[in-house]
Amino acid sequence: MIKAESISKSFGKLEVLKEISLEVKQGEVVAIIGPSGSGKSTFLRCINHLESIDSGNVYFDGQPIGFKQLPNGKKAPIKGKELCQLRSQIGMVFQKFNLFPHMTALENVMEGPITVLGKSKTEARDLAEELLAKVGLADKAENYPSQLSGGQQQRVAIARALAMKPKVMLFDEPTSALDPELVGEVLNVMKNLANEGMTMIVVTHEMGFAREVADRVVFMDDGKILEIGKPENIFTSPKHPRTKDFLRSVL
Ligand code: ATP
Ligand code: MG
Repeated sequence: MIKAESISKSFGKLEVLKEISLEVKQGEVVAIIGPSGSGKSTFLRCINHLESIDSGNVYFDGQPIGFKQLPNGKKAPIKGKELCQLRSQIGMVFQKFNLFPHMTALENVMEGPITVLGKSKTEARDLAEELLAKVGLADKAENYPSQLSGGQQQRVAIARALAMKPKVMLFDEPTSALDPELVGEVLNVMKNLANEGMTMIVVTHEMGFAREVADRVVFMDDGKILEIGKPENIFTSPKHPRTKDFLRSVL
């Protein structure tokens, strides 16, 4: 479903991703853990081309993201409509919910399907109502973001991403801006999504979630993937000394 092949990325002299490779299969849930500054967010952003990559390849459903191969063997950047089309199949949820403040929860969820997918208002409304119910917010459809708790806003953000019918969902620390008592409701929505078979890549500090929900856990440090494995292996018998140190500091 998603394949990153030896991707590298620098910001000026700072090499943030160093030849990272990862393949995520359909229906798989992959958790990415690692210290601050290790490149986790940058990696997610490269996957849906919010950041360009310096070298390597990212494939989505077999199609290259970022570059396409021309018949003459050269590579050309994917831009405009084509990129939008690819990207609309990849949902992303950030730490900060960035909902449109002047729109209700329902309107926030309806926006993408109407403007990007060209759906009718009625169709978009039906879908948005269904998705808000799915994230447990059927009764908050008419509330504006300022009238919602952080956990509720994040659930609207998840519903908004799902409204685009993505094939993959990327989450970048979706609960780390939340008060502790609101974390559970968001993790539950994510857990349900995983159980429904959604392909997910989740950058998280929630080790309990990674352990319980992820099929594989990726440990990143200093722009590299140092260890990948099943949660039970990573959490109970990490191989790399850096993974051991990191887990000792967070568990
Ligand atoms: P955290 O756990 O704190 O979110 P992270 O693992 O997500 O960290 P990144 O946000 O990917 O880390 O950042 C990796 C490195 O790249 C950091 O040193 C950061 O300062 C740098 N960086 C990220 N984005 C940019 C940018 N747009 N310009 C310059 N440097 C950047
Ligand atoms: Mg980050």
